[in-house]
Amino acid sequence: MTVSIDVPAAAADVLSKPIGHLIGGRTIDAADDHFPTTNPCNGEVLAQVASGTEADVDRAVAAARAALDGPWARMTPSARGKVLWRLADLIEARTEEFAHLEAVDTGKPVTYARLVDLPLTVDWFRYMAGWPTKLVGSTVPISAVATPGDYFAYTKREPVGVVGAIIAWNFPLMLAAWKLSPALAAGNTVILKPAEQTPLTAALLGEVIREAGVPDGVVNIVHGYGETVGAALAAHPGVDKISFTGSTEVGRHIVRASAGNLKKVTLELGGKSANIVFDDADIEAAAAGAANAVFFNQGEACTAGSRLFVQSGVYDRVVEGVARFAEQIKVGDSLDPASQMGPVVSDQQFSTVMGYLESGRQQGATVAYGGSRIGDAGYFIQPTVLTDTAPGMRVVDEEIFGPVITVQRFDDVDEVVRAANASCYGLAGGVWTSNVARAHAVADQLRAGTVWVNSYNVFDPALPFGGYKQSGWGREHGAAVFDAYTETKTVVVPTA
Ligand code: ADP
Repeated sequence: MTVSIDVPAAAADVLSKPIGHLIGGRTIDAADDHFPTTNPCNGEVLAQVASGTEADVDRAVAAARAALDGPWARMTPSARGKVLWRLADLIEARTEEFAHLEAVDTGKPVTYARLVDLPLTVDWFRYMAGWPTKLVGSTVPISAVATPGDYFAYTKREPVGVVGAIIAWNFPLMLAAWKLSPALAAGNTVILKPAEQTPLTAALLGEVIREAGVPDGVVNIVHGYGETVGAALAAHPGVDKISFTGSTEVGRHIVRASAGNLKKVTLELGGKSANIVFDDADIEAAAAGAANAVFFNQGEACTAGSRLFVQSGVYDRVVEGVARFAEQIKVGDSLDPASQMGPVVSDQQFSTVMGYLESGRQQGATVAYGGSRIGDAGYFIQPTVLTDTAPGMRVVDEEIFGPVITVQRFDDVDEVVRAANASCYGLAGGVWTSNVARAHAVADQLRAGTVWVNSYNVFDPALPFGGYKQSGWGREHGAAVFDAYTETKTVVVPTA
């Protein structure tokens, strides 16, 4: 297929042929069943992608199981670390190709893919490369059934086994790294199912994985739809664990489907995060921070600070600041180096976001800025600021996953903490204040997995991340992620 977009040669190569699955170290094309992946800037078809079936999932699970019991198990922790580090180097060396593919597939500006998605992906693999040699157990003194010294008891950490990693379309490469890097560090094998909207960087990652010396079958990639490939993975008796990033609704499907063999499940789901600006904050920084917190990545981020709460004394200034910021965002084609925001990912997402904007208007919200489609090609939506919003409105209660912020006014701390916590989600939150004690007190009271103070969306592979309430199960990153990717074995040995 010939594409008219300007991408580096190796990226164009990915687009030049149908994209196949990676199973057992070989690229496997679907003979007849493909689906298109399109550029949300203009609807143009970028590539045809093999549409996976249950049989493909079966083959991938068999390959992952064979690798788990074979070459991967024989590799020393240090060798595993080396492979992960090599993967990081190879991804870094191909930053431009990955960034361009990510930009045209998701719609995010290539500038941000290059500055955010790629360095973070590389960093994740590097950080996790240090872990295989540090996954230690402990010796445990026991006394319930014995006198001291009768038994020698210890724990060790072992891989959970074959992991199904099902990911969303908003940060396709980075989410793949969030799943693959700890899973491999702990000695698991993986079947990755990229989101059907955004398969391109996974295809290039598959090439890089082979180049890095990852043994065949350790990482398998099966493309396709959630209802087929995703559901087959979640239900598969040969899969020991599912690690999922996506919507809360699909998270529930996965939990149900996983019940058959009671596989381990971790979930990173939706959010409706509160960002709270107090009177004593640095108002300019808070307004810019609040705008960035929601408009970054077209608002397609599970941590998006989509509910803004502003204390009465600074309400007008903050609303004006956020609206001015929104007005100045340059929305444009993902490959235009000047673009700061691109289109939302798909036709379906476009309709969802526009539907929310309509419901906001109908339920009495005021559009302080934005609220409309931009142009008539592609899925561009103005960054939008809604005021006069209140609980009970869909735009306040439900995750929009688009460039829309709702603003609510508050007077005192207790009131805003109650309002912030009045959500079924609990992924993240922000607090803007110059009062250190207040910052800690509010951070303490927010029912959310991450709280950023005078900042937002600061991610690091060393920082645990995950949701309270319906935002998820378990934690990713840092030492905490290994609770999800290892089993702890206890061994007890009589000393005489
Ligand atoms: P979004 O709503 O943001 O598109 P989803 O939660 O629908 O996100 O999708 C996240 C991932 O889950 C995608 O890879 C998708 O294909 C997959 N998926 C969708 N439905 C199912 C399902 N029933 N079982 C397993 N995976 C699914």
